[in-house]
Amino acid sequence: MLHQTRGRITRDNGAAIDALKKRAAEWEVPLTQEAAGFCFHVWNSKATLYPDETGVTIEISSPEHRLLQTLQGSLTELFEECLLCPKWDEVAEGALAPGMSLMQVASVTRRSPGFTRVRLEGHDAERFGGGSYHFRLLIPRKGRPPCWPRIAASGRTVWPEGDDALHRPVYTTVAYGQNWIEFDIFEHKGSPTSAWVAEDPTGRTIGIIGPGGGGCPDSNNLFLFGDETALPAIIRMLQEAPGKVRAFIQARREDLCELAADERVSIVTDLVPALEALELCDGAHVWFAGYADQARAARTYLTSQGLQKRDFTAAAYWN
Ligand SMILES: Cc1cc2nc3c(=O)[nH]c(=O)nc-3n(C[C@H](O)[C@H](O)[C@H](O)COP(=O)(O)OP(=O)(O)OC[C@H]3O[C@@H](n4cnc5c(N)ncnc54)[C@H](O)[C@@H]3O)c2cc1C
Repeated sequence: MLHQTRGRITRDNGAAIDALKKRAAEWEVPLTQEAAGFCFHVWNSKATLYPDETGVTIEISSPEHRLLQTLQGSLTELFEECLLCPKWDEVAEGALAPGMSLMQVASVTRRSPGFTRVRLEGHDAERFGGGSYHFRLLIPRKGRPPCWPRIAASGRTVWPEGDDALHRPVYTTVAYGQNWIEFDIFEHKGSPTSAWVAEDPTGRTIGIIGPGGGGCPDSNNLFLFGDETALPAIIRMLQEAPGKVRAFIQARREDLCELAADERVSIVTDLVPALEALELCDGAHVWFAGYADQARAARTYLTSQGLQKRDFTAAAYWN
């Protein structure tokens, strides 16, 4: 089923279409021109702008309501920057930010010396157990009552600021079932998320937003490289990869838990030299995630070896 909405900008001088073209170029997403309009394609959704003598009509269609609202908010923000105010047929004024869910912290369990596993429960948890592995955890500042992001009358999302600003780190759904998900927090110094979990938030309500980001690459020969922060994603890919998979992990053995006995897994002291030592073969896909400098070095190395963008993933998980 497609979700749809429509909006209108009056007294536009071509500024909306110019802004959309610029955004498509910045985000490297397609903007196609059809007979009567310009189509912007992103997040499996489509926004079409139809110019006429008195303004522009905007039509958005999307397979998911949250993606429709996300695109509606994002376009509103873009057009407002050009001093254009779209008027939408429908705005979910006051609703939680698109894709945001409130969940109960059901349990907090020490999994290994470095990791704590958190289980969240909520009626729409299932959404976070699909092909997009990641979400943002929304943590209110210590001692403040939560103030959640909401959709404003204009259609854009307003995030709390100042003392109410939320900490928004990205985590990975490592396991899921009906009405629950679990994620693993790698503890490190100076981490607000580590401080939050150390207080044992069991029973509290927490916000999460998503899902987003990648999932398991569709390759029959997959090589995974990652540090502790990538371990949950690697656990998922070792379970879900359709073909052969090998993983090289920069972490302490005691933090590998069940993976310590998995023959497909090797511990390495540094990810980049381990990647450089790999004999790359045709048809292989390399997935790499870790510290930003390592991800940059991996991208440079893989490109220098002639790999195309579609043949590898090199993601900065922290910096
Ligand atoms: C797509 C994606 C998925 C991720 N999945 C997970 C996951 O499932 N589990 C997980 O633990 N992490 C995961 N991460 C990494 C996590 O988002 C970062 O480690 C993030 O910095 C944690 O937020 P923070 O509360 O520590 O606060 P921040 O303000 O981001 O960081 C606080 C301080 O900690 C430092 N820091 C951050 N990470 C590390 C680290 N690993 N080691 C040492 N110092 C560090 C920062 O440099 C900063 O100085 C993921 C990241 C991405 C992009």
